[in-house]
Amino acid sequence: MAFNWEDPRPIPKMTVDNQKCNVPLTCKKCLELCPQAVFALITLKYVKYVETNINEPYAYAVRPMHRDKCTGCMECVNACPRDAITVQFGEGEVK
Ligand code: SF4
Ligand code: SF4
Repeated sequence: MAFNWEDPRPIPKMTVDNQKCNVPLTCKKCLELCPQAVFALITLKYVKYVETNINEPYAYAVRPMHRDKCTGCMECVNACPRDAITVQFGEGEVK
């Protein structure tokens, strides 16, 4: 698909609050529902030869790795039970 110079898709600022979402694998809503697969799960805690406990706080985190693909549908913001996600286009309102 050719790049549309007349209507370039803006890239939003996005945050996922690690304090509010500290056990993401017990939820995974944003990871499962984003139509653009913007989010990725990263492992924060590594112990050699030991499987990381999915229920341990701060062992994993969600990151908006592919925010350039975001369409601004706000499904993730509306679905997050911990109100941990913000998506902001330009200087507009933070949701
Ligand atoms: S606003 Fe929509 S496209 Fe963007 S990250 Fe959230 S669910 Fe995905
Ligand atoms: S929807 Fe919210 S609480 Fe659930 S994994 Fe994503 S950021 Fe964390």
